[in-house]
Amino acid sequence: MRNVVLATGNAGKLREFRAALAETELEIKPQSAWNVPEAEETGLTFVENALIKARNAAEYTGLPALADDSGLVVDALGGAPGVYSARYAGPGVSDRANVEKLLTELGDTPAEQRGAHFQCVLVLLRHPADPTPLICQARWEGLITFEPYGAGGFGYDPVFLVPSEGQTAAELDLAVKNRLSHRGQALAQLVEMLKRHPEFWRLTTSAPTQLKA
Ligand code: IMP
Repeated sequence: MRNVVLATGNAGKLREFRAALAETELEIKPQSAWNVPEAEETGLTFVENALIKARNAAEYTGLPALADDSGLVVDALGGAPGVYSARYAGPGVSDRANVEKLLTELGDTPAEQRGAHFQCVLVLLRHPADPTPLICQARWEGLITFEPYGAGGFGYDPVFLVPSEGQTAAELDLAVKNRLSHRGQALAQLVEMLKRHPEFWRLTTSAPTQLKA
């Protein structure tokens, strides 16, 4: 098995990642086991933020690191809330406050213009200065409803209508959500990439010294 640190403190994500990667050689450990401080997400893109989080975890633990960054991209809002999804209504706010702000911003925008997608980027770094990380990304298409429905999930799930299911993400069975979702699809890609490219691990996984020169 190959120890990999997961750059999140979220127990739900840890469970989802472990289940999705169960058939790979990766042994996923949470970064909380090393008391890794949260990295500041200063990137303007999901790719940049996932790299920042993975690099931070790899630096602190000396292990290969896996990170994800995700968010909601709404067409009628020029891509907002995007990388600011977690803090759309302000720093440290509740999911409910973010959802309320989203519904207010969209106002009475008609249903056919309420297209949106969740985006997920996964980054696997072998060490902090890894020049060729594995990057997988996926999107989950949907529509923003006019009011929240369903009690499951988190974040924007209650207002994210999944057209193929006729339900919001908060109404879906968790196993169904995990299969369809942006994160589920990106994780499936990662499993496939690792299977197809065993040479990925040929690069040394030790942290080089030149990074902090
Ligand atoms: P992060 O990738 O954990 O930083 O998530 C960023 C934010 O995007 C979350 O706080 C949620 O607001 C939103 N988000 C990401 N994935 C989902 C999802 O599957 N459902 C609902 N909201 C999500």
